[in-house]
Amino acid sequence: MAARILLIEDNDQNRYLVTFLLERQGYDLVSARDGLHGIELARERTPDLILLDIQLPTMHGYDVARALRRIPALADIPIVAVTSYAMVGDRERALAAGCTAYIEKPINPESFVAEVGSFLSPPDGDCQAPDDSRS
Ligand code: MN
Repeated sequence: MAARILLIEDNDQNRYLVTFLLERQGYDLVSARDGLHGIELARERTPDLILLDIQLPTMHGYDVARALRRIPALADIPIVAVTSYAMVGDRERALAAGCTAYIEKPINPESFVAEVGSFLSPPDGDCQAPDDSRS
């Protein structure tokens, strides 16, 4: 089964680009334009990975990350901040809020897909299998 990814992003162009890139790769994408809807979708769909914009309307991305981490079913899933914030300390703030990692915008379409994949288990028949000794 394809990994399910939740994208929380208010910018239409970014949302279309990320959705296009990841759906083309075979992922099951669901997206929200704001934090509250994103949290609702996360509860309903239990994604394998969450991509979280930090500059969001009404609810800041760091607060969204904290709220997601308080949901027991989502405590261990990767939350990757995707943001154009480039100020010193933002990476640390994202991690302190519960994010697993940080990808800077503008995203590079080629490396982005690989980066996202690195947070998920490899799809069947693709990538190298983990070292399995067939003795
Ligand atoms: Mn934004």
